[in-house]
Amino acid sequence: MRNATSTTILELTWLGLLTMFLGVVTGYFVPSALFVASAYLSVTLWRRNSFYRWLESNQKNESLVTSDLWADIVRRIEIERDQAEKNKESVVNEFHNLRLALSSLKVGLVLTDKTWNLIWWNEVGGELLNFRKPDDINSYLFALLRSPSLKEYIAKNDFSEPLILDDFTTQQAVIELYFGDSPSEGYIILVRDISQLKRLNEMRSDFIANVSHELKTPLTVINGYLETLIDNQLVEGVAKNAIENAGLQGRRMDNIIQDLITLSQLETSPSTDIEVFNLSDLVGQVQQQVAWLQKNLKKNQTIVKILVTEDWVLTGNRNEIFSLLSNLLSNALRYCPDGSLISLRLEQSDHKTLICVDDNGPGIPEPHLSRVTERFYRVDKSHSSITGGTGLGLAIAKHIMERHSGSLQITSEEGKGTCIRCSFPKDRLQQIVT
Ligand code: ADP
Repeated sequence: MRNATSTTILELTWLGLLTMFLGVVTGYFVPSALFVASAYLSVTLWRRNSFYRWLESNQKNESLVTSDLWADIVRRIEIERDQAEKNKESVVNEFHNLRLALSSLKVGLVLTDKTWNLIWWNEVGGELLNFRKPDDINSYLFALLRSPSLKEYIAKNDFSEPLILDDFTTQQAVIELYFGDSPSEGYIILVRDISQLKRLNEMRSDFIANVSHELKTPLTVINGYLETLIDNQLVEGVAKNAIENAGLQGRRMDNIIQDLITLSQLETSPSTDIEVFNLSDLVGQVQQQVAWLQKNLKKNQTIVKILVTEDWVLTGNRNEIFSLLSNLLSNALRYCPDGSLISLRLEQSDHKTLICVDDNGPGIPEPHLSRVTERFYRVDKSHSSITGGTGLGLAIAKHIMERHSGSLQITSEEGKGTCIRCSFPKDRLQQIVT
């Protein structure tokens, strides 16, 4: 097939020859030229119309009367059309396979538009959330999932943590929902049934609580006998040392058991005794305990600065917040050498108020930072008996923060110090305007 330029040159040559011929035969060159040009224009217009009709009808080119130039264009368009058809087929196939894969996922998947109307869900998602096809397509998500905690969660517009729902299904299932922005201008929701996981966690917590309670009574008796022996000076020499050491370890064990009981209570029992109280009053009580510890640890050169003014009120469980602050301050006292500076102060951001406990002690090395809130995780395991910790202080602090709709944030630099921030929602910790 000739290319467009040679076809055009050939056509123009033929037109020129025809004009010459008519001019010679009739003796009128200009009218002949006009006649040939008009005829050519008419044929071109007719071809253009046929071409347009063919384009519209989307048929193969047999019906189309074409010259070489038009045939070339038509052929190219047809190649593009075939390619587009193949691409479309493969996209449709891929889309179909993707839907099949998503449908067979063991985790639920739900897609909504920007206004929370349901677009699509897979089988597991539908089963867990009781959605029915096609009736519920385009339904408003919150009309189907009537849960106050879901409404509260969406209103906060913070999807960084999953939402756990146990208050809307009749099967008493515990459902975990992860929200994310979908690429197609909407939301994608991952749905998981965590009922079994929750039951296992409860069993583990119950087991720890039971064991701790069972151990506590005999240990109290043993510690009592050891104290009697020491206080009444009933043993001497090597035996005295051994009994004193046993008494020390007995008290450590008692602290660990007490912390384990506290932790399992925090994990299993609902948050109760929520009250509004003055933060600086509570901090004053914590300060007394810290002063006693400071004396015991003989860290008289350490400065503990409390920078909380009297006009702050906190909504929460007073005992839990006491335990939180005393854990953080006692950690700072125990891990920082004498002469360090420890401070307790408040910080404010857009939606949060933070209680910060800073120190300029040894700090926590980066690799350990993410793990120090785990149970029994210690940076330096060999020092655990010297510092007198149970390894549960920060785990307890983290749980207390979660029960107050907040979080524990730890930043630290080795050799420079540590800053532990307890981040509360603004409505929990606020300044009284007088
Ligand atoms: P422990 O009872 O051992 O103190 P925690 O859970 O309270 O257990 O703390 C976990 C670990 O985090 C500690 O063993 C310690 O290594 C580290 N840590 C906690 N607070 C500080 C701090 N202020 N400075 C340095 N290290 C700290």
